[in-house]
Amino acid sequence: MGAVAFEQREPNEQGAVGQGNGGPAAGGTIRSYAPGSGELLGEVPVMSPSEVLAVVERARKAQAAWGVLPVAERCERLLRLRDAIVDHAEDIVETITRECGKPRHEALTHEVTLIADFLTHYCRHAPQLLAPRPLDLHLLKHRKSYVHYAPRGVIGIISPWNYPFSIPMGDVVAALITGSAAVVKPSEVTPLTILKAKAIYNGTGLPEDLFGVVTGYGPTGQALIESGVHKVVFTGGVETGRRVAAACGARLVPCVMELGGKAPLIACADADLERTAHAIVYGGFSNAGQACISVERVYAHKDIYAKLLHRVKELTASLRIGDPSKDYVDVGAIIFPKQIEIAERHIEDALQKGAELVLGGQKRPGPGQFFEPTILANCTHEMTVMTQEIFGPIVPFARVSSEEEALSLANASHLGLNAYVFTKDRDRGCALAERIEAGSVVVNDVLINYGAIDTPFGGIKQSGFGRVHGDDALRDMAEARHVNYDRFSPPERDPLWFPYSAKSLGWLMRGFRLLFSGKGVVQRIGQIF
Ligand code: NAD
Repeated sequence: MGAVAFEQREPNEQGAVGQGNGGPAAGGTIRSYAPGSGELLGEVPVMSPSEVLAVVERARKAQAAWGVLPVAERCERLLRLRDAIVDHAEDIVETITRECGKPRHEALTHEVTLIADFLTHYCRHAPQLLAPRPLDLHLLKHRKSYVHYAPRGVIGIISPWNYPFSIPMGDVVAALITGSAAVVKPSEVTPLTILKAKAIYNGTGLPEDLFGVVTGYGPTGQALIESGVHKVVFTGGVETGRRVAAACGARLVPCVMELGGKAPLIACADADLERTAHAIVYGGFSNAGQACISVERVYAHKDIYAKLLHRVKELTASLRIGDPSKDYVDVGAIIFPKQIEIAERHIEDALQKGAELVLGGQKRPGPGQFFEPTILANCTHEMTVMTQEIFGPIVPFARVSSEEEALSLANASHLGLNAYVFTKDRDRGCALAERIEAGSVVVNDVLINYGAIDTPFGGIKQSGFGRVHGDDALRDMAEARHVNYDRFSPPERDPLWFPYSAKSLGWLMRGFRLLFSGKGVVQRIGQIF
């Protein structure tokens, strides 16, 4: 590799999350630093388009042998990866905690457990889910059809830094189960975690080239899209997503877009105050608020607003902040300094426009990057903190007079990934949930749906399209292909085929009326003659 080393990544000039990152196209290395301590953890190469092509080519060759295996056999072999993940759980947790700066509890429960569960569940059920599916033909009774799920080839996976293990590995496992190969372009900020996963995978005896990793900045991701992969699963910011979707569109490569979120939490007048307060604190400050499904805005009914705010303040004040690789803390580090500047800008804007700073609002001294969990009150949609993705430890509160007002504000967003409703009336909660414009709405809980790997996950509006997790997404990772065949010995010539005549058209018209006329059976039969 070249001698040039690049300092820790800074997001681009706009400073918004997920804006993609330029960086050189090839040559040199990327250094990965621990956000909790500033310590240098390792260095990876910036891979060129030709290096990317070579990895994809090797994956393609490995896939040719893998894709012809029966699903059950692939699943049986993949359970070795589950066992290896369980055996190396501490090691993976340590890597995530250091490289991403999140507490070990979160690395274990939000990342490692999720993938062990994904493998366990889908290796058990995939043979049945991916079995050819017969279709009952309602009209063409002389023929039969079925859909079968063929491997696509090589799946390109481009992932962010905030869940550097569970996001890419969920997609890798789905690709491998469905008979494809997978090549991951991890975030330039957290490349070491996926390389740890790759090393563990290599120790299982599964075909090594079936799972490739290409490291680099945005241009390396672009090279992956252009390498001839058969599908792209992208997770990242909205603006990068636009560029990735355009690049996929130019090549007609199917893609899944998992983009930003601005999850609203509606606290109804009858919400359980204590549970709602704990949920807001956990949902807002887990992973230091750097989750696409973090609680990013609270709409609290006026009857409970003051009490809820007070309790959230009390609970937040007791959170311990610090380097999670050294101590048992609740809130870890902020991934890079720019993310702190974004948080500061949101707070400044909100305070200028009349918000009240209830708690926090300051960065903490290093080494490492830390920002106090922050609560803002009296927020409105005039403030960026209520309308743009924060991706940091800030929870803004707005007071509402009714559930209808909360609903209309929750839906006044260009994003629609996750949302939350808190009420003691479960039925009303579900009814309200159905009216919220989001891919997933959770009643009386937060973040939990991402861990329910058998439920569909993904956004609407500018939060993206396509789904990961769930049975449909697994099937969609494969290519649904249709086969149609004859039930009985077919005649030499079908009546619908050439030659056409006035007589045959007459019979076709009678048949058409018989089948589709809204008249009674007797009248329809009468029309034939
Ligand atoms: P990002 O958009 O900056 O980067 C994501 C990935 O895209 C990185 O690997 C990056 O190198 C790559 N990339 C950048 N430019 C590219 C290009 N032109 N072509 C191909 N690849 C390119 O996002 P981030 O800062 O790493 O992550 C934060 C964002 O991700 C937030 O907006 C968050 O909401 C979103 N996110 C969404 C989900 C979800 O499931 N919907 C999950 C986690 C994070």
